[in-house]
Amino acid sequence: RNGSSGNRAVIIGLGRFGGSLALELARQRTDVLAIDSSPKLVDKYAEDLTHAVVADSTDEDALKQLGVHQFRRAVVAIGADLEASILTTSVLADFGIPNIWAKALSRQHARILERVGAHHVVLPEHDMGERVAHLVMGRMLDYIEFEDDYAMVKTVAPAEAVGRPLAESELRSKYGITVVSIKRRGEGFTYATAETVVRRGDLLIVAGKSTDTERFAELT
Ligand code: ADP
Repeated sequence: RNGSSGNRAVIIGLGRFGGSLALELARQRTDVLAIDSSPKLVDKYAEDLTHAVVADSTDEDALKQLGVHQFRRAVVAIGADLEASILTTSVLADFGIPNIWAKALSRQHARILERVGAHHVVLPEHDMGERVAHLVMGRMLDYIEFEDDYAMVKTVAPAEAVGRPLAESELRSKYGITVVSIKRRGEGFTYATAETVVRRGDLLIVAGKSTDTERFAELT
């Protein structure tokens, strides 16, 4: 769809994170080259991934032979082996790959990966811990925080919004949030308009500053 080089990615490390990442990409019809030093892991994924190979990703020549330097997207999904994670990321950066994603286990690890050339660093355990904290203590059913303290939250419609159109409850001026989508029992999500009348038990997706979306979700 995006041309021969646009729709493919190299995934290095087939642990829990890299494995599910690679499978999901393959499901989305991305052409995946998966690399791990463990033959056992490569075997495990060989059936579902068309290109799964055993190699040491810190070995620049080995990666070149696999054509890794020609990819435009790469993910370094090595966590525990700090040295391998850093070396691999820097080899990919030396190749000039324009979109390098890397997984880090700590903030320090993340900083180093950025220094050696990762364009995007993810901290899955750290981020998921934060996300679950919002879900555990609040009334939120789902929570995604973007940069700049901006979030989207799924929550049950509070009583004061029920029985009237969204325009009338003035949620934006009162709470600083925007209702983006609404879901009736037994129906799918649809976009919300000023005229949408909220019913008891409706689910809302609201967007706004994290603190405002949290406050809104606490309303009953
Ligand atoms: P997770 O927590 O997602 O399971 P791990 O850090 O345990 O992540 O897994 C990382 C994977 O990366 C392991 O499967 C390991 O074999 C692989 N790996 C580690 N070092 C290298 C390397 N130098 N070359 C290729 N693969 C590596």
